[in-house]
Amino acid sequence: MISREYTYKKAFENKKEAVKKREFERELLLSALYKSEPRLVEIENELKSLGARLALSTLAGDKATLKEIREKSKLLSKEKKEILKKGKIPSDKPECSLCGDTGYVGGKICDCIKKEASRIMTEELSREMPLGDCRFDNFDLKFYPDKTDSDGTNPRRRMTSILKLCREYVLNFGENSENLLFTGGAGVGKTHLTLAIVAGVIEKGYMAIYGSAENLFSAVENEKFSGEGRGNYDMMLNCDLLVIDDLGAEMATSFTKSALYNLVNTRILSGKPTIINTNLTIKQIEEMYSPRISSRLIGHYNSNKFLGVDIRQQKSLIEK
Ligand SMILES: [Zn+2]
Repeated sequence: MISREYTYKKAFENKKEAVKKREFERELLLSALYKSEPRLVEIENELKSLGARLALSTLAGDKATLKEIREKSKLLSKEKKEILKKGKIPSDKPECSLCGDTGYVGGKICDCIKKEASRIMTEELSREMPLGDCRFDNFDLKFYPDKTDSDGTNPRRRMTSILKLCREYVLNFGENSENLLFTGGAGVGKTHLTLAIVAGVIEKGYMAIYGSAENLFSAVENEKFSGEGRGNYDMMLNCDLLVIDDLGAEMATSFTKSALYNLVNTRILSGKPTIINTNLTIKQIEEMYSPRISSRLIGHYNSNKFLGVDIRQQKSLIEK
């Protein structure tokens, strides 16, 4: 996991570069337009000579001429604006109206930088699992058998409703979104759907952090014991959405147990949503971690059991 300092430094650099790129592209378009619209050059020249006359008349105190010059230049500016508009020249207004693209508002880091930092963080965290491959529209329900088992469950029907839940989760995402607990065997689509949620939530401008339990806990450990990646734990506590993938696959130590409890509990108290994926049952979570964690999950998480058989295996069989 990468540090907060790094992501913010990178976010500021990206902002600077984006501003430069926009200016450069605007210049290119402008110079092409000046070539194809000779009237623009004429307007520029007229405006320049009006400027000179304005200075002289101001010195001379000639009010009538001043008024005439002002009106003329207003008309010329309007004409110029229309030509620029017709030539589809992008505005030179800053992209972020809050900070005017400086990255700071009243000495504090602007939201546009925070969003970019979160995007960078998620990009780094998700390098091994490209978000682009895990979308709602390529989640294939046909891998889930449409047949009702002896216990009355139907995998296709269950997964159809979980897919709907996930789509709606993104659609309605906000501060008071619920916590989700996804359980079920390996390869039944938990990671796929949570990554699709993460992508959707980031697209809406929220700050989301996704990581396997193993990676997240080792980041917390590194920060605590070597000071490496300072601010990561804070970010996990405070981000808009935290996804802990594959809980239970990591080595559970007394350190990870208390880190998990703190993350889960602090986020419940501050009303910030968390999604946890695990192959474990609630009973196994209680045994592996502690009853106080499992009771938090039971009391504060909307629990959904994924059904079906390992999709990766099914896919590799099809490919063979
Ligand atoms: Zn801004």
